[in-house]
Amino acid sequence: MICLCITEGTTESALELLRRYRPLIDIAELRLDLMERCRLDVVLRNSPCPVIVTNRPRREGGAFEGDERERIARLREAIELGAPYVDIEYDSLSRLGARRRTRLIVSYHNFEGVPPDLLSIYRELVEAGADVAKVAVMARDVTDNLSVFELLRAKQVPTIAHCMGEDGVVSRVLGKKFGCFLTYTALRGKESAPGQLTPEEIVELYRWKDIGEKTETYGVIGNPVAHSMSPAIHNAAFSAIRYDAVYVPFRVVSLRNFIESYRKIDVRGYSVTIPHKEEAVKCVDKVDELVRKIGALNTIVFRDGGARSYGYNTDSSSATSSIEEALGEPLEGKEVALVGAGGAGRAIAFGLIWKGAKLRVFNRTPEKAHRLAEELGAEGYSLREIGNHSFEILVNATSVGMYPNVDEMPVEGEIVGRAKLVFDAVYNPEETRLILEAKRRGIRYVTGFEMFVRQAVQQFELWTGQKAPVDVMQGVLAEKLCSKQ
Ligand code: NAP
Repeated sequence: MICLCITEGTTESALELLRRYRPLIDIAELRLDLMERCRLDVVLRNSPCPVIVTNRPRREGGAFEGDERERIARLREAIELGAPYVDIEYDSLSRLGARRRTRLIVSYHNFEGVPPDLLSIYRELVEAGADVAKVAVMARDVTDNLSVFELLRAKQVPTIAHCMGEDGVVSRVLGKKFGCFLTYTALRGKESAPGQLTPEEIVELYRWKDIGEKTETYGVIGNPVAHSMSPAIHNAAFSAIRYDAVYVPFRVVSLRNFIESYRKIDVRGYSVTIPHKEEAVKCVDKVDELVRKIGALNTIVFRDGGARSYGYNTDSSSATSSIEEALGEPLEGKEVALVGAGGAGRAIAFGLIWKGAKLRVFNRTPEKAHRLAEELGAEGYSLREIGNHSFEILVNATSVGMYPNVDEMPVEGEIVGRAKLVFDAVYNPEETRLILEAKRRGIRYVTGFEMFVRQAVQQFELWTGQKAPVDVMQGVLAEKLCSKQ
């Protein structure tokens, strides 16, 4: 079930919210300790969905500061009025009295971390007579979610278990796979616990209602990762082709430990982003030739029932394949000027060499251009020297022109005018100043948007073996970029 936590306002505003959100949610939690005023009889009689009544004290992360007897009296009132559920903290259970028809959620919260004896704490909740046992613990690392999944796998009664905090978001989504009784959601800025998603995010972004025991798990590994657009793109693509899978963000500090630990829950594939692309090469069983040369990957696929992991670099192949498509012929023998020698520049450079292009690398910091060129067996120069060289294809792999510095260009307009085709890796905005310059001069061009979608399409197809819904993925990225500007 999806639960909306009501954390402010009055009887009337709570009912208004419940009516508005009823299409997305199954149940609501009235947080009496956070609400201004609430007539329980009125809400319970008029609520469009079942209600959990909670009156959380400070010691368990709530806001109630008054007399303990007064706090419990409100919960007793809820029971007398026939509330479907009352949430009672484990240490207050004995003070509550008869439960009548109300089902008791007996809860344990830990805002410090995951205690080593979590399973025995859980068993105490069950033995105390919980109709639903609830455990909420703070994630200090993304691997903490695994303790919660383990607990859910061992559940003895209906159980709510999740990790709080940014690193715990994964458990609020994937808990459903392990039979979690419900997931708590809240309106943006009105969270009752850190890490809660909104009802829209849980339903529309993470497809929570479709998640089941057999749902395959995918995700993006990075740090930071909260603003990645990949969950929106891949989840929309899974949904469009009715593929039973979900894609979540993993904020990872220690990559090897993360990959090994998460083998326990049978993840089928990852996107890998900054800062883990290089380290990831050492954490998979097999990489293709291109990955070995680049020394970085952005895609991991698990095969043979998760026994073996394979690494790919779709940043590189998406750039070269989109250039070749726009060119209408192979890159072999073409003179290419690549501007930029950072992560993207490196991936694109190896892809271009792999395709047989004649490459010159230009960079603001010339030493980096020289170093990369040496590895490639190509020529490297300072960016200032670009005017002295000929080329057919101009590739920008710097961040120049990226939002918010949208008026910048990595080279002068006159240099752009010499190219037959211009490629810009920057995807936000889709039409950079460089692309607009190429357009104005009637030069063919490929945008970073095209590369971004294509790398995601290639990942999707490597994971699922199915044709990706390209239009859907393009649409989601366009929408996300609009909302970021
Ligand atoms: P990075 O590793 O930080 O490298 C940045 C590059 O830009 C370096 O070569 C740097 O030169 C150069 N640069 C930065 N500011 C400059 C300036 N004012 N003038 C000249 N050169 C400048 O970044 P990255 O990961 O390679 O990403 C580069 C761009 O590619 C970003 O905009 C990123 O969003 C984009 N990208 C797109 C895709 C896609 O799918 N479309 C995928 C990956 C990356 P120095 O060495 O002199 O600092």
